[in-house]
Amino acid sequence: MNRLNQPKPQGIGMTSQRTRARMVERLRRDGIADEAVLSAMGAVPRHVFLEEALASRAYDDDALPIGFSQTISQPYIVARMIEALHDGRELGKVLEIGTGCGYQAAVLAHLATEVYSIERIAPLLVKARANLRGLRLGNLRLKHGDGNLGLSDAAPFDSIIIAAATRQVPQSLLQQMALGGRMILPLGTSVQVLRLVERTRSGYNETNLDAVRFVPMLTGVE
Ligand code: SAH
Repeated sequence: MNRLNQPKPQGIGMTSQRTRARMVERLRRDGIADEAVLSAMGAVPRHVFLEEALASRAYDDDALPIGFSQTISQPYIVARMIEALHDGRELGKVLEIGTGCGYQAAVLAHLATEVYSIERIAPLLVKARANLRGLRLGNLRLKHGDGNLGLSDAAPFDSIIIAAATRQVPQSLLQQMALGGRMILPLGTSVQVLRLVERTRSGYNETNLDAVRFVPMLTGVE
């Protein structure tokens, strides 16, 4: 192999499995206990989803910019939300609203049967596709659209995860939940809380979890 074919230098140790393992140990210390979630977090190379200038911070527990005024969620929140959805059952068929750079979608694809992810900003979706290309996740489908409407063609979903904050739980997403299904989302504007919704035979059960801070869920597409 000549020099031009060598992989780009990526900074000291940052891309290594060891750096990821340290992130997983930190998640464990911070209270994430679901081994399947920890193992998915350990399997997805987070630095691949960030611009080169930020890649060295990929495994810190921070939200980082991904362009278009959007951010990749911090690892703890990604793990926390997926753990709450998983909790004692299969994730099954998943809908994610807010693909962003594609990172959380990749983690979900390691755990779920199928993942559909919707993003409203077209050029961000182009970036996400490029980020995900090398990971060969055959069970992940990305769609350009307004997540407020959900994805009726593929409904019902066993799990729905929203990566942007809404004032109210979107009605069409409630309708697209399978019986026994769960949805997790940041609810609120300046003050936000993680809300877990479960669909039962008699209706919807709602529980509030941690306080969080997400970018707002918008309407329409760009
Ligand atoms: N899961 C992402 C986090 C992205 S931040 C990741 O791992 O990187 C939230 C994303 O939600 C942004 O990309 C934003 O454009 C998108 N978004 C906001 N409102 C939306 C809507 N109505 N439909 C689809 N995506 C939306």
